[in-house]
Amino acid sequence: MNSLFTVTHRDGAARRGQLRLPHGIVETPVFMPVGTRAAVKGVTNEQLESLGAEIILGNTYHLHLRPGDELIARAGGLHNFMGWSRPILTDSGGYQVFSLADRRKISEDGVVFRSHLDGSAHTLTPESAVDIQARLGSDILMMFDECPPWPGTEDVIRDAVDRTLRWAQRGRDRMLALRSGAVTDVPRATPDQVQFGIIQGGTHLAMRDRSVKGTLAVGFDAYAIGGLSVGEPAPTMYDVVAHTAAQLPEDRPRYLMGTGTPTDLVESVARGIDMFDCVLPTRNARNGQLFTRDGVIVIKNARYAEDLLPPDPECSCYTCTHHSRAYLRHLFMSGEITSATLNSLHNLHFYLDTMRGIRKAIEFGNFDSFRLDFLRRQETFRQKKEAQ
Ligand SMILES: [Zn+2]
Repeated sequence: MNSLFTVTHRDGAARRGQLRLPHGIVETPVFMPVGTRAAVKGVTNEQLESLGAEIILGNTYHLHLRPGDELIARAGGLHNFMGWSRPILTDSGGYQVFSLADRRKISEDGVVFRSHLDGSAHTLTPESAVDIQARLGSDILMMFDECPPWPGTEDVIRDAVDRTLRWAQRGRDRMLALRSGAVTDVPRATPDQVQFGIIQGGTHLAMRDRSVKGTLAVGFDAYAIGGLSVGEPAPTMYDVVAHTAAQLPEDRPRYLMGTGTPTDLVESVARGIDMFDCVLPTRNARNGQLFTRDGVIVIKNARYAEDLLPPDPECSCYTCTHHSRAYLRHLFMSGEITSATLNSLHNLHFYLDTMRGIRKAIEFGNFDSFRLDFLRRQETFRQKKEAQ
């Protein structure tokens, strides 16, 4: 038993638990809406709270460049700055700087990159990634890692895994120095923040093993699985998740980074994952795609022009209890700002409600029948669509 995490129920490899963070308790398995630039796009914090979001994600790369982590520290940290009192997780910025491709240079020390905003040069190292997140004052900060592109040869992946392990040690040392008071010139808005390590290794199981062994040896408060949902087929991802999650400590939360579709969430909980984040619900909402129990609705389709049903007749969100597909299609076609808000409210509710269903099913010991029913309805929709 530790103070960070308690598993309250198990059903197969699926776990129901409670995560205790400086800004509150999070019920797991949990989905974390993504608030890249200190805002979840299209919705207010009040709406997020009423949707039942218990933790959101902020993005280190974007906040470091604008408005700057030092400004946010002077404003009392990210919680104060954005007016959100519940837990926040910040990523390390690694994923974004590696995706800059031709505007970054990797060395043993870290990554030098050019800002996508004004071309100015910046350096991100395992130490500075910790310092930036300490100034932001998130509840959970992530270690700085190298995320190699998929597919990668075993040699390329091995180099990335080994460098990431060296960076893991440096990032952990920095965190412990902040915690012990050995470093005093970095303001910390949330002194009790916890640090997650990240397992890399692409789709090579032996490289995943190597990364697990090394990262556990460094020793973090909990662990995440990174480097998936980058283009590999879903069954491959599920195999890597099952293989990796089984090797992570039983008494710590396991976080699958940047994933995924509703089906991915259900399938990954079945393989022992407790935490998720993804831009899909909000990004797809702005593109007019609505997730439902029977698959995705593309609201611009002409067939919805006079459809007076709600997007998902079984959904209890604000959008579904007040508006029809015909109205939402009209807003989308007219480019009304409200279109993004109403669609985002529904999609976020669908994701968060799917997680509530998952948690309840694990508590009652019928997660497997929940899972099969969920997958069958998503699959039936896909087949119907292909037959049209
Ligand atoms: Zn709805």
